[in-house]
Amino acid sequence: MAGAAMLGGWLLGICLLGVWIFWAAPVSADPLPVSEVAPGVFVHAGLYEETDTANAGDIANCGFIVGDDAVAVIDTGGSPAVGQRLREAIRAHTDRPVRYVVNTHMHPDHVLGNAAFLPDQPDFVAHRNFQAALMARGNHYLHAFDAAVGAEAGAEARIIPPTVTVSDRLELDLGRRVVELVARPVAHTDNDLTVFDRQTATLWTGDLLFMERAPAIDGSVLGWIRLLDGLAAEPAARVVPGHGPLSAPWPEAARDLRRYLDRVVTGVRAIQAAHGTIQQAADTVATDEAPRWRLFDGYNPRNVTAAFAELEWE
Ligand SMILES: [Zn+2]
Repeated sequence: MAGAAMLGGWLLGICLLGVWIFWAAPVSADPLPVSEVAPGVFVHAGLYEETDTANAGDIANCGFIVGDDAVAVIDTGGSPAVGQRLREAIRAHTDRPVRYVVNTHMHPDHVLGNAAFLPDQPDFVAHRNFQAALMARGNHYLHAFDAAVGAEAGAEARIIPPTVTVSDRLELDLGRRVVELVARPVAHTDNDLTVFDRQTATLWTGDLLFMERAPAIDGSVLGWIRLLDGLAAEPAARVVPGHGPLSAPWPEAARDLRRYLDRVVTGVRAIQAAHGTIQQAADTVATDEAPRWRLFDGYNPRNVTAAFAELEWE
């Protein structure tokens, strides 16, 4: 009798354990594919697409750096689902805790995965202008995300404010590995932050560098050109672009972007000198760059329009 009772107790215990494991197991997701571009530096390459239901916002590069004590995530993808998949990729490579989530700037394809990392209770680190920029655009981003991905998935998308902001420079110690964050002046946006891993001389540019996929000017075209020229002199063995391949040699990687931005400025100035219209500029400037960039037709007219407004006041 006692034996049967004990066996019953065991079975009940095992059943309860099973139920507990079932309920406690986190929602799992396919880990994002990542590549180790330098020791301890892992990158996922986003698609050259606009956000839609199929890609769930997986359109920007993101990744992580692993130190002896902690992990720093650099950008989180364009949805909580992508963020969760990045989190799974991290767990597949290290058991070190995620202590920092760094956002290179406020664009939704780089930040809407942040919410997936809330359970890790990391510091969310961004440029000092990041929060104001997100306050201005956040609701628009969430509505656009709902429209592109679907309201059901979009219901989870949230704006996560930074807990640490960078005005100038900040070092993050990951345990025998220091990464340097630098808040940059207005260029791609007004809140671009670069991340430099000293150990491997890997520079994460965020969207200060687009390769292959058409860039978007959302700050200052002249500021961006100035900044690229300054960045070219910074010693880096490789860069991780915000959009483009996993990594590329520096400064050669910036050549196409630098040329494109130059073409925009030169073309817009010529039209303004001839008293042409903003529409003429949008229709003609830099159009021969089209074969060199993916998604070009969606971005070039907007870039030219933005540059026209900026250069009008020179
Ligand atoms: Zn961007």
